[in-house]
Amino acid sequence: MEFPGGDDAARPPGVRTRVAPGNRSDQVGNAMSDSRIVKIFDTTLRDGEQSPGCSMNLAEKLKVAQALIDLGVDVIEAGFPIASVGDFEAVREIANSFSGSTICGLARCSEADIDRAWEALQRNPDPRIHVFLATSAIHRTFKLKMTPDEIVTRSIAGVRRAASYTPNVEFSPEDAARTEIDFLCRVVEAVIDAGATTVNIPDTVGYATPAHMGGVISSLMNRVPNIDKATISIHCHNDLGLAVANSLAAVEAGAGQIECTINGIGERAGNCSLEEVVMAMRTRNDYYHCDSRIKSRRLVPTSQLVSSITGMQVQRNKAIVGRNAFAHEAGIHQDGMLKERTTYEIMRPEDVGFDKTDLVLGKHSGRAALLDRARQLGYNLEPDKVNSIFERFKELADRKKEVFDGDIAAVIENELYGTTNDEWALIDYTLTSDLRRTQAIQLEVRRGDQVAHGAAVSDAGPVEAGVQAIRNAIGLDFGCTSYTAQSLSMGEDASVNASFEITYKGEVYRGRGVSRNIFEATLIAVLNAVNRAILDTRSVTNGAAEARSTI
Ligand SMILES: [Zn+2]
Repeated sequence: MEFPGGDDAARPPGVRTRVAPGNRSDQVGNAMSDSRIVKIFDTTLRDGEQSPGCSMNLAEKLKVAQALIDLGVDVIEAGFPIASVGDFEAVREIANSFSGSTICGLARCSEADIDRAWEALQRNPDPRIHVFLATSAIHRTFKLKMTPDEIVTRSIAGVRRAASYTPNVEFSPEDAARTEIDFLCRVVEAVIDAGATTVNIPDTVGYATPAHMGGVISSLMNRVPNIDKATISIHCHNDLGLAVANSLAAVEAGAGQIECTINGIGERAGNCSLEEVVMAMRTRNDYYHCDSRIKSRRLVPTSQLVSSITGMQVQRNKAIVGRNAFAHEAGIHQDGMLKERTTYEIMRPEDVGFDKTDLVLGKHSGRAALLDRARQLGYNLEPDKVNSIFERFKELADRKKEVFDGDIAAVIENELYGTTNDEWALIDYTLTSDLRRTQAIQLEVRRGDQVAHGAAVSDAGPVEAGVQAIRNAIGLDFGCTSYTAQSLSMGEDASVNASFEITYKGEVYRGRGVSRNIFEATLIAVLNAVNRAILDTRSVTNGAAEARSTI
């Protein structure tokens, strides 16, 4: 194991011995040979999915799992099986369908949780059970009402039960960042003795700072006698905007696994962002001497897939995957870039999956070109969907001269995420709207054989009228919390992506709709959110509030 520091750390940043990005194109997408490999544990489907408005249905989770396999993550945390029937089924389906990455399920330190996790995971060739129990004084006293000795006893029992099913067991002392270091060392030693092969150190509430977190990991490395028998992992939340920095500090101190999510989605301010932490290690390999197995050219497609499925848009200036991340508009930068790109560019856009050009397809483009483009955009099309998607693409290309990536994504998603017989679909509407008069709408929706009509008038505008008409047609009283509409490509005939967030029975549901007609896209997004509310399978089976509070 090689740690950075020494002479190199003392040099001013400008003269560090870094390899120019342009000289290592052969190594992009692969780990660098002289580096310590840090495992990437993705929890987009568990911690990310848990955040308000990010819930995914089974088909969507399977698509994200496939994208994570293609990206090369080491571990996929697929869910929290005991939390609900939907969580259980998702973990079981992912465990039964995928190999190539370790598939992990979360469990509290109780027999029922661990047994349920194993039930979901057991058919996977490389399963991991992840058990957790809070260790900080505040959690011990107020949440668990347990003594330190009781915490240690229960942690050991949980790890032993998990280890009776699989040798691949991870333990997390919840709120580790606020746990007294002496007690944390005691718990870590005990769970490694009991059979934990990975010990994860979560900053559950996003309280740590980089020097603090580095110190916690160093203390564990120096003070826990059996620490070499387990991989130390880091799990940071972004409440202070420090999740990536804290994770890197932990790696610097010897952590061998980083827990993170695509686009940093997660509860509150989110989790450590996978794309940022991966590219920081790769770009500053000179300093960290660490890398991951991530295929970095899949970062942007995976980011876009997760964004489109969850409706959580990526901010334009987001590091690595934001639309502006590689845009140089200042004149002085452009001049420097033209002379020598490394003057202002520390990474190449193509290395993270941005193509040099937004390749334009047209009506003469064939099936192979469309499939190739779809793959570049992060879609693995099943053979039975290819024909219908190609037909839709041809229809669009006949009406629209240039078909951009955003248009292609819209065609594919409308086809992949079309409504099922259990879901309400928009059949037709009539809208009367002008600047001074009341807006009036009549619409027709269908679910299986059931047809419903709704009508509404509004002074506020067509969206308000449309939402009210959907409420009337379906008879569901939901609230609305947010609405955005964004063009997906260039030109006035671009497809529009509408995202609509509703509240129903205290839960938040986000829906999306895509169309070249902004109003139609909006109505589809509202219906999509309503369908998610109606079909919600997250009915909690075991201690609702507690089951949802996790690391
Ligand atoms: Zn977390």
